[in-house]
Amino acid sequence: MKFQDFQKNDSKVADVLKREYILETIKTLRCSTSLMTRPAALEIIRLYGKNPFLILVSCILSLRTRDTVSLPASIRLFHLAQTPEQLRAVPVEIVAHVIYPVGFSHQKASQLHALCNQLITHFNGIVPSTKDELLGLTGVGPKTANLVLGNAFDIPALCVDTHVHRISNRLGWVTTTTPEQTERELEKIVPRELWVELNHLLVMWGQNKCFPLVPYCSACPVKQFCLQKNVKKQR
Ligand code: SF4
Repeated sequence: MKFQDFQKNDSKVADVLKREYILETIKTLRCSTSLMTRPAALEIIRLYGKNPFLILVSCILSLRTRDTVSLPASIRLFHLAQTPEQLRAVPVEIVAHVIYPVGFSHQKASQLHALCNQLITHFNGIVPSTKDELLGLTGVGPKTANLVLGNAFDIPALCVDTHVHRISNRLGWVTTTTPEQTERELEKIVPRELWVELNHLLVMWGQNKCFPLVPYCSACPVKQFCLQKNVKKQR
């Protein structure tokens, strides 16, 4: 049966089939991305270990900025400071200069200072490990909170960024208009133990094959599982 046909079954059968297709797609992506450049979060972990503060800071720097820009900026910043106390001691102008050309570098430098103050004042300088507490921090939205939970604390959480949102919809796994909706829908159909990995796989896929405007569908190994929804142009 083709993926396109699974919805013709009754809802229980359709759910089982959809789950099977999702698992097959994840297996294929795991293989196909094995030689691709790792996402920035994994590179930070490789360099510094599962340090929640560094993962959080690098995620804030990556917002609306490509990994190829935000990752070197994070590394430059971590040469200067690796704790909230150390980072708070670096003047905002210097932080902004060091992280440039990250998008909104001045705004992010100020945010990082506010974040460090919050962590020192309310959390003893330690990044909290609950979603509610993370969401209360300056500059932290659902995507950043989930990335920190999953990557720093090994707590299953679905980090839905632009790649995860776009590709989940193209594949036909969800039909949603916002990342928040995508997160809720994916939580129902993707096994919890795959939530963190799914973000890494779809980020690599989005950066290398399933581009926002013109994806490489002709040579895509998951084409057989993909509904190609909203794909207007492809190569
Ligand atoms: S077939 Fe095209 S739209 Fe579907 S995952 Fe592959 S590149 Fe993306």
